[in-house]
Amino acid sequence: MPKGMRNPFARKQASLRAPERSVARATGALLLGASTFVLLSLLLPHPSGGNSYALTVAAVAMAIAGVLCLILFERIPVTLGHLLLAATTATTGLLIYESGVAAGQYGSIFVWATLISAYFFSRRVAIAHLVWLLGVYALALAFVASTAGYSPITRWLFTAITLTVVLLFTSLIVAHRARADRRARRFFDLSHDLLSIGDLEGNLLEFNGAWTDSLGYNLDEILVMPFIDLVHPDDRERTEVEAASLYGGGGHVGFENRYRAKDGTWHWLRWSSTLSPEESLVYARATDVTELKRIEVERERLLEKVEGLAHSDALTGLPNRRSLDEQLPREIARARRSASSLCVAIVDVDHFKAYNDEHGHLAGDTALRECAAAWDTALRAGDSISRFGGEEFLAVLPDCGVEEATEIVERLREVTPPGLTCSAGLARWSGEETAETLVRRADAALYVAKAAGRDRLVHSASAEA
Ligand code: GH3
Ligand code: MG
Ligand code: MG
Repeated sequence: MPKGMRNPFARKQASLRAPERSVARATGALLLGASTFVLLSLLLPHPSGGNSYALTVAAVAMAIAGVLCLILFERIPVTLGHLLLAATTATTGLLIYESGVAAGQYGSIFVWATLISAYFFSRRVAIAHLVWLLGVYALALAFVASTAGYSPITRWLFTAITLTVVLLFTSLIVAHRARADRRARRFFDLSHDLLSIGDLEGNLLEFNGAWTDSLGYNLDEILVMPFIDLVHPDDRERTEVEAASLYGGGGHVGFENRYRAKDGTWHWLRWSSTLSPEESLVYARATDVTELKRIEVERERLLEKVEGLAHSDALTGLPNRRSLDEQLPREIARARRSASSLCVAIVDVDHFKAYNDEHGHLAGDTALRECAAAWDTALRAGDSISRFGGEEFLAVLPDCGVEEATEIVERLREVTPPGLTCSAGLARWSGEETAETLVRRADAALYVAKAAGRDRLVHSASAEA
C-alpha cells in the first residue's frame, strides 16, 4: 500500500473534514504570503521614508498568525476565520500607512482578501467585508502622502472598482459552481444506493441519505462508524483483502458483504468502489441487495418445488411419466456407453377395476400407494420405478441381466400388498432399440401375461417366441 494511504476498514472513522475549515487554512496561506511580500517590499526604496521597523514587526506578526492558522485550522471556527480576514485587512491599511506612501504594492493583499471572502462567504458577508476594506483604505489614504500624481479619491475609486469586480466575478463563479454542486447533490440524495466519498486517510467526506435509510444509523453514528466491526464475521477477511487491493492502487473493486444494521439485521451490500489517485479520493457505491438475495433464494426454492411437482406423481410420490420419458433415454445412452445390460418391466395390478368396485375408489388409491411404496423399497439401489399410468408402473433396472431382472420382478410380486396380485412384462434392451420400442416390447409381454391368466411374469423373448 502506498505511503500515506490508510485503509478505512482497518480503523475507526476519526473525524469529518469540514470544508468550511478551509477558510482558516486559506487565510493562513494569505497571511504567510502577505508577510513574505511585505518583507520583500522592504528591499524596495521607500522615497518618503517608510517605517521599516513597524513594517518588519507587522510582517513577523502576520507570519506568526499565518503559521498558527495553518497549524490550528481544524480548531478555528468559521466566524473566527471571518474576523481573521477583517484583521488582515486592517493590518494591510496599517502597512500602507507605515510605508509612508499609499503603496500600491500592498493593494494586492486587499485583492487576495476580497477573493477569499467572496469564495468562502455569502455575497452579503463579502460585500460587508469589502465596505470595511474600502473604509480602511480610505483612512490610510487620508493619512499618507501620494506619490502617484493623482488624487487620493481617484486612487480610492480605482481600487474600489477593481475590488468590486473581483468580488462580483468570484461570487458569480462560486454561485455557478454551487448550482452545479446542488444539482449533483440532488442526484446523490435521490439514489437508493449507499453513496460515499472518502479520503485516503479513511475519513468519510460525503455520504447520502440512503446510508441512514438502509442501515438505520444516524448521521453522527455514520461518522464514527467502526466499518469493519459492522461486517459479518464470515465476510470480514474478504472485505479487508478487497479494501487493501483498492487502497493498494487496485483502481476499482467490486464485491459483496453483509453489514449489521442498527436493528441487528444483516444487510447484503454489493460494493463498487473506485480510487481516484489524482483527487486522492475513494468513490464508493453500495447497493442493498438483501431483498434481491431473499427473492433469489425463494425463487430457487420455488423452482425446485415446481420441478419436483412436474416430475413426480401426486398420488404415489413416485417419478411420473414425464420423468420417465427423460430418464429412460438417459439410461439407454448410459448402457450404450458402458456396454452394459438394461432391463425394464411393466407391472400392472390385476383386476384393479374390480378392486375399486368392491372397496371403493379411495381404498383403491390407498392400495396403489401401498403397492408403490412396497415396490420402491424392494428394488436395488440404482433401480427406479415410475408410475406409467393408472395402475401400471414401470421399473428401470440398469446393469441388470434377464436372470437378475427376473429375480427382482418376482420380489416385487412377492411384496405386493395382501389381497392384490400383479402381472409383469419384462424386456431387455436389445442394444440398438429406442426407449419407445423397448417399452412396447415390455407391454406386449405384459399383455401375454394377462392373457395367460395374470399373476405372473412374462419375458418378452418368450412372449415373441
Ligand atoms: P387387468 O387385470 O386386465 O389389468 O384388469 P384391470 O381392472 O386392472 O384393468 P383395467 O384397465 O380394466 O382397469 C384399470 C382400473 O384402474 C380402472 C381404473 O378405475 C383404475 N385406476 C386407474 N388409476 C386409478 C387411480 O388413480 N386410483 C384408483 N382408485 N383407481 C385407478
Ligand atoms: Mg390392471
Ligand atoms: Mg392396466
